[in-house]
Amino acid sequence: MEKNIRIPELFGSQVFSEDVMRERLPKDVYKSLEKTMATGNEIDPTIADVVAGAMKDWAVEHGATHFTHWFQPLTGVTAEKHDSFLSPVGHGKAIMEFSGKELIKGEPDASSFPSGGLRATFEARGYTAWDPASYAFVKDGSLYIPTAFCSYTGEALDTKTPLLRSMDAISTEALRLLALFGDTTAKRVQTTVGAEQEYFLVDSADFKARRDLFYCGRTLFGAPAVKGQEMEDHYFGALRPRVSAYMQALDRALWALGISAKTKHNETAPAQHELAPVFSSTNIAVDQNLLTMEYMRKLAPEFGMECLLAEKPFAGINGSGKHNNWSIATDTGENLLKPGKTPADNKRFLLMLAAVLKAVDDYQDLLRISAATAGNDHRLGGAEAPPAIISIFLGEELEELVNAIADGSTYHKKDTKYMSLGVPSLPGIRKDNTDRNRTSPFAFTGNKFEFRMVGSSQNIALANIVLNTAVAKSFSDFADILGKAKDFEMALDKLIADTFRKHRRILFSGNSYSKEWEEEAKARGLSCFKSAPEAYEHFTDEKNIELFTRFAVMNEVEMRSRREIFFEIYRNVVGIEARTMLEMSMRDYIPAVSKYIKDLSDALIAKREALRGVDTSVEESLIGKLSDLLSKTYSATLALEKAEAAARAKANDEQRAFSYKEVVLPKMETLRRAVDSMEVLTAREYWPVPTYGDLTYRV
Ligand code: ADP
Ligand code: MG
Repeated sequence: MEKNIRIPELFGSQVFSEDVMRERLPKDVYKSLEKTMATGNEIDPTIADVVAGAMKDWAVEHGATHFTHWFQPLTGVTAEKHDSFLSPVGHGKAIMEFSGKELIKGEPDASSFPSGGLRATFEARGYTAWDPASYAFVKDGSLYIPTAFCSYTGEALDTKTPLLRSMDAISTEALRLLALFGDTTAKRVQTTVGAEQEYFLVDSADFKARRDLFYCGRTLFGAPAVKGQEMEDHYFGALRPRVSAYMQALDRALWALGISAKTKHNETAPAQHELAPVFSSTNIAVDQNLLTMEYMRKLAPEFGMECLLAEKPFAGINGSGKHNNWSIATDTGENLLKPGKTPADNKRFLLMLAAVLKAVDDYQDLLRISAATAGNDHRLGGAEAPPAIISIFLGEELEELVNAIADGSTYHKKDTKYMSLGVPSLPGIRKDNTDRNRTSPFAFTGNKFEFRMVGSSQNIALANIVLNTAVAKSFSDFADILGKAKDFEMALDKLIADTFRKHRRILFSGNSYSKEWEEEAKARGLSCFKSAPEAYEHFTDEKNIELFTRFAVMNEVEMRSRREIFFEIYRNVVGIEARTMLEMSMRDYIPAVSKYIKDLSDALIAKREALRGVDTSVEESLIGKLSDLLSKTYSATLALEKAEAAARAKANDEQRAFSYKEVVLPKMETLRRAVDSMEVLTAREYWPVPTYGDLTYRV
């Protein structure tokens, strides 16, 4: 790596950014495009050819020979199909060409993407449509054009389309509210997102030696290492050289793509790390998070490592999540969730706060679903990550304020602005309006909310679709009420107080991991879905269909297809895991332990032959214990095999998913326990795979 690389020049150098557009497009074309990007309106087709030409020239200068429509199907990862710019012009000659038509619309053969039954095979065509609000970029010799992906009949088959629709919805409704406050300068309201990404790094050789890692991305077996995370010496610890070199390369690759990777540090568990970018508008944040995950995976092997994005790669130590920091801002640069110095007097802020409380309370189930995957089930509700119950943490000051307003009592602002460090030479540090509660799934952190349930491997689109749309509904309901009011100020006070009173049950500032909270949450009527399939069932509840259709974010058909895909992915993930366990058990663990037992038995016989009456109690004891465990392992394997086959044979994906959750997962657990018990008794040289200690300490 060159030493004196100039970061400001590197940053965004691979992006067809606003600056590049301004420089390369005729003034009127740029203005028209800029307007499209700012308003979210459709692009003027007459400028498409000009934009495409400029894009192609720029991309070719940056080493591109191909272009691809880049989209986000419902698989959770991105998809791309590359076409070259090359166009033959006869006499064995060719030119580089790219038309407006090719920029705006693509037609990938889409029959192999999940559609939840939406796209009958006889009409398997799918379309991709350019999203001018996300920047195109050059990567690996191709021009990447961010697009939305839909079926022949116009139904969204991706995560991007509903996300853009939800951004429009919240913008429209927020502008209605702002107008009632007399603000008519804002023309667009954006939701902003910064996604903190957690991940693990393991040695490549260890990764390759474990089928559970390379098939499933997480370990399915493994006795705990002697040293876990109990010393808490990894969190924020000094970076190991190999990890540090990797992080530098990652930063640079992301910076070139205009992704402002900002913070990096070691996380709680050994071998766990985190990367946080500077926030941006939601659609861009989603694209950039997907690219970040891609580069995390792609660059690790160059450093002899593999990056694990699974939510729970190792049992017994912390898993990985994604903190979705979310806020609302006007195009004039105002953050609408900023409380200011005296939140009690900031009515507009209080109304925004009320809107979020109402949205999160009314649509707890949807938020839970947005973080519900087979992988995340191993994390949510464990005593580490957020619980499976949605609640909001506001911090002491704001929570007292909300309660005072709800109760109509007077609020006394406490004077806790500065905290003293007790050392006169150090400056007093201003206290935030919020302190931190790390156990809360949805926390107010100063001028934004942090949704912490999303899994580390997930696309954050759905979480933001739900947030945007649910809050858009609050805004819309509020605007209806306030728009009709004779006395705006009075109606506003009443609306804020009523909303706080109605929805404050969603506030919780205690320890969200505790058993008492689970009981209290039940008493408060909050929903608690312990597993993904239980949550999925509610996706198409009447009130949820009403929400998404009212704001034209998803229609009922799109929702039903997504619900099916949730179940389909769930049963596939657990199915692959179960079958991986069967393979490892039969072909790795059972043969290895049999061999060890045989060698122990040979040793025992040899000892007896060598010396009559010699002490063979160690061999006898080990042979006895291991033979017992081996029988248990074998019968657990057969039981899992049967359960897996039965789950797979169910009539549809919903039934399969429930069968996997209720019958197969417990059998997987039984098999795992038997194998892990053999692991601690088996000589190291016989054990067929790297152990937890190897995996977490050999990077
Ligand atoms: P932590 O939560 O780990 O203490 P920070 O407070 O620094 O970290 O911020 C975490 C993330 O929140 C960063 O990605 C940051 O860019 C993002 N963030 C900050 N302000 C906003 C905002 N207004 N909207 C969305 N995200 C934001
Ligand atoms: Mg955070």
